[in-house]
This record gives sequence, structure tokens and C-alpha cells, in this order.
Amino acid sequence: MTGDAPGEVRFQGVGVSSGIARGTIHVVRDDLDDVPRYGISAAQVTNEIGRFETALIQTRAQILKMQQQIAEAIGAKDAGIFDAHLLVVEDRTLIDEVLRKLETDLCNVESVFQEVASNYSETLSKIDDPYLRERVLDIQDVAKRVVRNLQGKAPKAFLSLAEPHILVAHNITPSDTATMNREQVLGLATDLGSRTSHTAIMARSLNIPAIVGLHDVTEVLETGQPVLLDGYNGLLILRPTPDTLWHYGELEQRKGQEAEQLTGLRETKSTTRDGRHIVLSANIELPGDVEAVSRNGAEGIGLYRTEFLYLNRTTLPSEEEQYEAYRKVAERVAPHPLIIRTFDLGGDKIAGTLDQGDELNPFMGWRAIRFCLAHVDIFKAQLRAILRTSAVGNVKIMFPMISGLEELRRALVVLAECKEELARSGESYGAETEVGAMIEVPSAAIAADMLAREVDFFSIGTNDLIQYTVAADRMNERVAHLHEPTHPSILRLLKTVSDAAHANKLWVGVCGEMAGDLTLVPLLLGLGIDELSVSATLVPRVKRAVQSVTISECEQLVAEALGLDTAAAILALCTQIAQNRYGDLLS
Ligand code: PEP
Ligand code: MG
Repeated sequence: MTGDAPGEVRFQGVGVSSGIARGTIHVVRDDLDDVPRYGISAAQVTNEIGRFETALIQTRAQILKMQQQIAEAIGAKDAGIFDAHLLVVEDRTLIDEVLRKLETDLCNVESVFQEVASNYSETLSKIDDPYLRERVLDIQDVAKRVVRNLQGKAPKAFLSLAEPHILVAHNITPSDTATMNREQVLGLATDLGSRTSHTAIMARSLNIPAIVGLHDVTEVLETGQPVLLDGYNGLLILRPTPDTLWHYGELEQRKGQEAEQLTGLRETKSTTRDGRHIVLSANIELPGDVEAVSRNGAEGIGLYRTEFLYLNRTTLPSEEEQYEAYRKVAERVAPHPLIIRTFDLGGDKIAGTLDQGDELNPFMGWRAIRFCLAHVDIFKAQLRAILRTSAVGNVKIMFPMISGLEELRRALVVLAECKEELARSGESYGAETEVGAMIEVPSAAIAADMLAREVDFFSIGTNDLIQYTVAADRMNERVAHLHEPTHPSILRLLKTVSDAAHANKLWVGVCGEMAGDLTLVPLLLGLGIDELSVSATLVPRVKRAVQSVTISECEQLVAEALGLDTAAAILALCTQIAQNRYGDLLS
């Protein structure tokens, strides 16, 4: 934090979605403990009771499951502590009081429950009885779980604020971002997060200026204060002076002119100066993002993150609903390809509908293909929907988080079963739908030659590949400095994958955020990458970068980079060529 002028205070974070936003802020301190309270109408009470009942059932099921796991691991005696937790979810006094207050207070059920549970535990803690005092801890523990279950399903109050504002929060989940009111949210700023967190990725797709990694900014700022958010440089400026506002007015004008010039590239090809065509596609999260794909001149969709269909809803999307959603997107981008990635739930993307449980290391846990192979019904419904879409559009399937050949083969077996099922029921489907593997786990990159014999293409997910290779959680801003795409090990892995793909006559793309980093485009081209899939808003700039270089100079760059031993040295080499060829884009 630096004070530059009287009244003005600057907070430095990491700019993850470019643009300038001005306005007043709305501060949300901690999305778990800060339970929002909002009014409801009498007609909504039944719905709130329904949500409460579902949350109690879900909480009970979670406690029973934990009890069983503990009993298996360390014995029935220790698992007995959960009996007291079960008593809390069945406690009539507590439940009846919540139902009564819902009718009288007409407020959302999580705030009513939180209030009743904390009054209840406060009363018990005052009684001089060791047994009852122990129950206070049980109530607090279970209450947290019930609130969390309620929040998993409830629309968050801050997501539907009616006034335009800049949202400042401790953390914003990808599902929050997916459902926020884009008209009212002018910008986002968070204490936590990094460039490759899905919230940052979503903000770029939605074109909302955003800054993450501001550490403790929510402790310092208050709702209603005026700020200027500079997403280009990661600066949040409290009470900007007239001078600052003038400076940013100029910057916006310059950026506007630049964007206008880039729109002229929409109909041009992403071909290098020496004639190599690089497929430049876009990543999307929500079906609505498809508008921006052709508007920005992308050649189809290289990554459709379909798990966003699952977030923030109370029912699972059926095969039919998925088919409809995919079909609309496929028709919109045809004749260009639509690469549909099967659900990548887990990590920072937790569906309200599915009980994935709490995990200590969610990014290394029950995620993506692992989760789908354990829920074959969910997986099959999606695969059938994709195969059916493939009959009406240029659709390809891609599996996320493949770690090795056996896992890939298991997924392919399920896919073959889906084809048989569709054939039996007389549905039309794309029998020859191409299948690709995402390469985002180091074991898959190292064994790429083996995987290459069983798929039609590779798409490298550098966000995960880097986090797993350097062992730095992509959500954790304290280790964000280790997330270096130019790390010599990453360069070697990328080369291994690209060489394995080409030796087996496959094409290979990159759909992680590295593909949209202008400085690194020459490095990827020099490695032989055939496709770059980036956030739609980045397409025009990446296209300019591709058009400005020759493959031979990019190959020369890679040859030199492979001889260097630090990320900084490789980055310096990349920066040099990017500066020489399209320096104006980097400023
Ligand atoms: C990646 O890991 O690079 C990727 C594209 O997938 P996601 O960011 O959704 O994990
Ligand atoms: Mg990934």
C-alpha cells in the first residue's frame, strides 16, 4: 500500500483481467463466515424451508459418511463423537426455532439458522455443566456445515446487488463469478487468487477488469468508498485524485484506439510471416460466451469448460439439457470446431449438487476424469449428449486430467459403451468424433508417446501442468511467483509432448493461459504447437503476435532457450523477440 497524494491510497495486486473500472466498492469479507442477510417474501418461506430440510439431510449424510470412514480407519469408539453431531441435526428445539423465526423475520434461512444456532450455543455455554459445554462445540461445528451446505445452493446476496459496484472480496469462487450480475459488477478485486485461478479466467471471459492477490485489502476498505481499478497494472486506487482520473482517462482512450485497430484483424488469418497457419481458437466457460468467439475472429472453440453447467444449481443437467446447450454452441461456431471438455469438477470448481466432500488437497484429489470415472452415470449422460451433438456440428471430445494410459483407456471404454447405447436406441451420433487428451499432469506429458497412439489430438493445459510440475498451488498467491511457464522443466515437457504428438501424426494445442501470454507466443510456435486456444478477448492480440513472426525465428528461439538454465533467462529471450516484433502490444 502506498500513499501517493493526500487522500489517495494505492494497493498493488496482480492484474488478471485488463480494463479500467471506476465506482464505489462493495466489500465481502469472508464468504464462509460472513453469512449475508436479506429479506424474503412470505411466499418464499416454503422454498426456504425446503432448502433448510435439504441442507439438514445433506449434513446428516456427510456426518454419517465421516463416521463410517473414521470407524474403518481408527475404530468405532472414536467414531462415536459424531453421534453428538447427529443429535444436533435432529434437535427439534433448534429446528422448530428456525422455522418459527423464518415466518416472523422473513429473512433468508442461512442467516436465521446462523442466528438461532449461535444464540443456542451461547445459552448452553453459560450453564455450568461440562457435558453441555462440550455440546456447544458440536453445535458450532455442525452449524458451520449446515450453513456451508445452504450456501452451496443459495444465490449469494452480493451477487444480486442492484447498484453498479466494484466487488472487493476475500475470495470469489468460479461459481460466484459465473452467476454474478455482469451489468452491475464493474470490476473485481480479491485478497486471494492468482492469474490461473478459474475466477481470474472467468473475469477475462466476461471482460470484467479484475485484480487478485491484494492480501488483506478487505480488512482495510469499507463498502461505499470510491475507487479506481486498473486491471492492466493490478492497481486498486482508493479515493483517486483528479490527476489520477485524468491520467486514466487518457489511458482508456489509447486502449480504445488500439482495440479499434485490432478489430480490423477479425477476418484475417493467424498465419506467420513465413506462411505457417496456426489455428487460433477461443476458450469458453458459459454458452453465452460464444458470442465473443466469432466477434473476436477466433476459428472455433478449443476448450469448452462444461463443468460450469454444473455450478450453482440444485439439479444435475440431464442428457437432454446438455445436448441442447452443446448443440446451440456447436451450431453457432460451425463449420469451425467445438472441442468439448468433459466435466472437470473439483479443485476450485465445486458443484452445489454433488457431494464431493472436503479434501485437503482438492487440486490433487477427486477431480475431473477421476470423478467422472467414479460416477459413470453422470459421465455417460454427458458423453451421449456430446456424441449426439457431434451428429449436427463439428464437435470433438477432450478428457481432462488424464494421468496415464490405463485411465485414458477406461474413459475410452465408457465412450465406446455410449456409442453402442446410442446405436441401439437408434439415435444419430458422430461415430467418428475425434477424441483428445488434455496433457496437464506431468506423468501424462512424460508418457505422451504412449497416449499419442490412442487419441486424435493433444491439448496442453499449462495451468495445471505448471502447478503440478513446480508443485505450486495455482490458487495460492504466496507461491504464485513459482508459476513460471518459462521454467526449463516446463520447456522440456512441452517439447516432449509436441514431439510425441508429431511423431504420431497428431496435432497439438495449448489451451492454458500460457497460450494467451503475448510474450510466450513465439516460444510455443517454435515448439511446433499447432493450435492456440485463448480467452476470446485475447484473440486479436495473439493473432497480431502470430502474424508478426516467422516460424524459423521461433525455432531458433527454442533452440537457444533449451540451452538456458533459468526461467528468467528464457523469459528474457522471449521478451526480446516479442519486443522487436510487436512491442506496441506489450505496453
Ligand atoms: C489448464 O489446466 O491449463 C486448463 C486449460 O484447464 P483448467 O484451467 O480449466 O484447469
Ligand atoms: Mg486444467
